[in-house]
Amino acid sequence: MDIQIITGDITSLDVDAIVNAANPTLLGGGGVDGAIHRAAGPRLLQACRAIPEVSPGVRCPTREARITLGFDLPAQYVIHTVGPVWNGGGSREPDLLARCYRQSMTLAMEYDLASIAFPAISCGVYGYPPEQASRVAVRSLLDTPNGGPERVLICCFSDAMADIWRNALNDEA
Ligand code: ADP
Repeated sequence: MDIQIITGDITSLDVDAIVNAANPTLLGGGGVDGAIHRAAGPRLLQACRAIPEVSPGVRCPTREARITLGFDLPAQYVIHTVGPVWNGGGSREPDLLARCYRQSMTLAMEYDLASIAFPAISCGVYGYPPEQASRVAVRSLLDTPNGGPERVLICCFSDAMADIWRNALNDEA
């Protein structure tokens, strides 16, 4: 598996799937979620609405993932996953975040996808310190069983964020 850290807008990437840092409703929000819905067009919201609720208002519990088409995006699929809200680190945040990456990779493997791009899940409004999130993410990706996407991009929204992720990749790899 080849992990690459890049800076850019994840909605522009021509990969088999981009990952959305969604919220449990899967009905859109701010940050990367809003950008993905805008770029994918209204059919994405329709597809998300069609995903069954597992409890009132919850289509995807924290740490799980769901897949839809990408509609107007260059990416064929969107994998929606819900990261943990940072709550000081004592509320199983690392385990929950690691599972987001793992579950997204598992779905990508089930769909036989060769390339996938992740945003810095939970590192925005959800407040996860990026130095810690990046290490958890890289570890989780490196521990993923073979057979999933060969090409894994981490698409950071700023060079400063990308530097943090590069440090994590250098330390964990
Ligand atoms: P969360 O709620 O999981 O914290 P956010 O969307 O608030 O999700 O932020 C996650 C990360 O995505 C942040 O680092 C943010 O800067 C970044 N981000 C926002 N828009 C984009 C985009 N278009 N492409 C890539 N990353 C983005």
